[in-house]
Amino acid sequence: VSPASLASPPGGGPGRISSRTRLFAVIGDPVAHSLSPLLQNHFFRLFGLDGVYTALHVPPAALAEALAGARALGFAGLNVTIPHKAAVVPHCSRVAPEVERLGVANTLIFREGRIDAATTDAAGFTASLGEQAGRFRGSSVVLFGAGGSARAVAFALAGLGIAHLTIVNRSLPRAEELQRFCRVHLGIPGLRSLAAADPRLSEPVREAQILINATPAGMQPRCDETPLAEPAWIGPQHFVYDLIYTPRRTRLLQEAAARGSAVQGGLDMLIFQGLAALNLWFGAEYRLAPAELSKVRTLLLNELE
Ligand code: NAP
Repeated sequence: VSPASLASPPGGGPGRISSRTRLFAVIGDPVAHSLSPLLQNHFFRLFGLDGVYTALHVPPAALAEALAGARALGFAGLNVTIPHKAAVVPHCSRVAPEVERLGVANTLIFREGRIDAATTDAAGFTASLGEQAGRFRGSSVVLFGAGGSARAVAFALAGLGIAHLTIVNRSLPRAEELQRFCRVHLGIPGLRSLAAADPRLSEPVREAQILINATPAGMQPRCDETPLAEPAWIGPQHFVYDLIYTPRRTRLLQEAAARGSAVQGGLDMLIFQGLAALNLWFGAEYRLAPAELSKVRTLLLNELE
């Protein structure tokens, strides 16, 4: 077997693993379904990096021990998923400004005996927009959801310079809480919050240029759900983005596409938040050429099928 084929084995798995190979993992509970090992090991091969990435099941009661253990074992980095995104922050020595404001981290960097915390969801959202990013400056946006990912998206929207944001959530108090956060920490100018069932929703939806779903409504196995009960309010003036990536085209995106809107699903956000984490670990600025991006999409979609 030639060294080249060892470095790039067919069908997955990292290249040669040695005592110099840097260790990475995603920790979560549950974590078995995570696509991050597939994604990051693909990146390691693509960029010729000597790393290996796995998924580690860490229940909440074992979090402190797991972080101390990873540090003691010389891990180079971790991704953090549900339910640890907020709980890891107090264990970190240095936190990025976004972590301070959002209160959550999804990427830990182990260096010089420290654990540093970052979050790449907002960067992943922005990077995933590609050419559509130009639509955001000065725009009116309706954001469905008020959970962790909605907060990260709001952070990204502030950076993109939107003018108006309507936050729509099943429970109004949570939407109002996110509205307060957007006013105090993000300085988004025109803010409003509405309950998902409020009939006044028609007006901001019709007037918006951008609709974003950051709820699990429509995610497998409940593909018949949608965050917007009235698709007739959607039109060709809209760009509709759904953070869900299973299915690739949610009911919301199907209804929007049928009415002439530009649409985008959540797969690229997943890819770009992973790439942003990799760049933090390696202190690099790796980028995906269009052909490489489409290969990564295919790799993940094959796994999701
Ligand atoms: P979360 O913190 O649990 O928040 C869930 C939000 O959705 C809450 O506002 C909740 O409303 C609302 N919600 C839950 N079920 C709903 C339903 N059936 N109908 C309408 N609203 C509902 O979750 P999250 O971490 O923000 O994740 C939200 C979605 O984003 C998930 O589908 C996740 O897979 C996706 N996501 C994708 C990426 C990516 O890279 N593409 C990254 C992060 C998240 P209440 O407050 O009323 O309960």
